[in-house]
Amino acid sequence: MNITDRVLRVYQLDRQLAGLQSRLRAAERFYAEQSRQVKALETKRVAVAHQAKQIAASVTNQENDIKSTEARLKHLREQMANAHTTKEYQGFLTEVKMLDIDKDKVEEEALNQLARADELKAQVAELDTQFAERAKMCKVAEAECATRKTEIASKLSELQAQRQAAASEVPGDLLARYERLFELHEEDAMAPIEITDLKRHEYNCGACMMSLPMEASISLLGGKLTICSNCQCILYITEEATEALTHSSKK
Ligand SMILES: [Zn+2]
Repeated sequence: MNITDRVLRVYQLDRQLAGLQSRLRAAERFYAEQSRQVKALETKRVAVAHQAKQIAASVTNQENDIKSTEARLKHLREQMANAHTTKEYQGFLTEVKMLDIDKDKVEEEALNQLARADELKAQVAELDTQFAERAKMCKVAEAECATRKTEIASKLSELQAQRQAAASEVPGDLLARYERLFELHEEDAMAPIEITDLKRHEYNCGACMMSLPMEASISLLGGKLTICSNCQCILYITEEATEALTHSSKK
């Protein structure tokens, strides 16, 4: 096996591994998204419930205010009934009028707050429903991940062992270079040289489709490491192309 074949072997195994894990990765992404939404709903629910509680507390305060105003009014009306002079009566009456206005204001505000509290309660209930649904979905997604993992476990460890063995055949710096390429471009980390015109010695890079110099084909036939100068991918040559090129050179 020449150097290109050795990297190619790693590349093919990496593609197989990526393919094998693609459904698991999709399931993991879905699960992560569900978990994120469950957390977001929980945070929102806590915030709305807290707001509802605060409003309920202020409504209680307003109700207490109203009660004490009512007690004061009752007392004033009794005093009015027993007033000895018109002036005394007028004094009580003025205070009664003022307290009535205050009481109306507080009552109106309390009603508004109560309506707001009801709205918030309804919101909390709605969030509870959404949370329950999303949590259910999240559990399903989690189970799906586990199923996918189990499904591929044995095949995965088999491929990983093969990949490790194949990688140990590739010099460290080349392996590192290849792995960077694979991380960036995945399937385009390596590409076959494509013959566009055999007679005219015209070749393309199978990844970026740019033309390659004739030296690239010679280099590949000689089993040398060959890089596409345009997209930097590692080039390889298929058996068919090798055959076509060696035939044409014999002619
Ligand atoms: Zn290229």
